Amino acid sequence: MRPLMAKSALVLLVTCALTQAQNQQETDLRAKAQNLAHQFIIIDTHIDVPYRLRMQWEDISQRTPKGNFDFVRAVEGGLNAPFMSIYIPSEYEAQGGGKALADTLIDMVEGFANRWPKLCAIATSVSDVTRQFKQGRLSLCLGMENGTPIEHDLSNVRYFYDRGIRYITLAHGEHNHISDSSYDSTRVWKGLSPFGRKVVAEMNRVGIMVDVSHISDDAFYEVMNISKAPVIASHSSCRAFTPGFERNMSDEMIKLLAKNRGVIMINFGNSFLHGDYQVIEGKIWSYLTTHRLRFNDPEAQTYIQQFLKDNPLPKVTVADVAAHIDHVVKLVGADFVGLGSDFDGVGDMLPEGLRDVSHYPNVIFELLKKGYSDKDIEKICGLNLLRVWSEVEKTAHQLQTPEKTSQ
Ligand SMILES: [Zn+2]
Repeated sequence: MRPLMAKSALVLLVTCALTQAQNQQETDLRAKAQNLAHQFIIIDTHIDVPYRLRMQWEDISQRTPKGNFDFVRAVEGGLNAPFMSIYIPSEYEAQGGGKALADTLIDMVEGFANRWPKLCAIATSVSDVTRQFKQGRLSLCLGMENGTPIEHDLSNVRYFYDRGIRYITLAHGEHNHISDSSYDSTRVWKGLSPFGRKVVAEMNRVGIMVDVSHISDDAFYEVMNISKAPVIASHSSCRAFTPGFERNMSDEMIKLLAKNRGVIMINFGNSFLHGDYQVIEGKIWSYLTTHRLRFNDPEAQTYIQQFLKDNPLPKVTVADVAAHIDHVVKLVGADFVGLGSDFDGVGDMLPEGLRDVSHYPNVIFELLKKGYSDKDIEKICGLNLLRVWSEVEKTAHQLQTPEKTSQ
């Protein structure tokens, strides 16, 4: 019996040593991820904090009990350049007032910069972001979610450029006068409207990034055909994980986006990441829509609770975000993917380990675990988006410079 006992003791010893080594390795990687998060520029192209504060004001210079963004947690997570979403709900297309609402929300973000100048400043260029990064101040960039505030007037593209807007999501949940929407089955334009094509050209000319998140596939392919500059998907994930969900991008679209030197910024919302989650959430929304119920209606809540009891939601973690990033990297390389969380836009439906802006180091940790190089992680965290933004600035400059005529 003795040799056998000795053998099992040895196995135990080796297992313990291995576990200890694994634990140490994990601790080291977590420390490294934390360091990299503060060493690299982290850009997140979609944070819905302005609309959240419009609904209920909070002092975001302090740690807030609610929401996914405040400056304290942003600094903890190493976030440097959040794009503040200037979100205009779809109903403004018919009722009007979209431009006025956009102005109000832009005023609010300017108010953050005026109120807390040591913490943050508005950024309207790549050089603003890099300079303010060195100064240790957050760069508040502006992205307008929905082209409705253009209000049929092409000169409003320039107007919003002058107000600091640096990307425009052409449509939101329903079609508008610019484009069809992925969520809207009425495909009135079969892609972009004739005016929408002019809007894309004008955005190229003034230097606003075209955002293809939310638009229909046909509209995406039209943008790809006509845009003279690379484009972004500010908060979309990979359709390969959520079959049939048009709001995410198919492999074919990601390949074309990369060919055009654009970038897909991965959405952290659970239903964007996990197919089963997407199906369950989709069924709930379609029930609510059919029965004309709002999410918080008692009747809706009774239905949702029972439905979720019968169809439990799958667990989604920060590793799922890394899996989407990895999918894009395997498809087209590490130059065409970044982070577009949708924080403050998807409620509590966020992955474990990625609940707010203090958690970006967890994404880096997952990428380190997959063996990603520091250089590739730096690109994914922010350099890819800055590269696209620079190319958009350059294209605008070229389009605005009159061609030299030979004498
Ligand atoms: Zn959105």
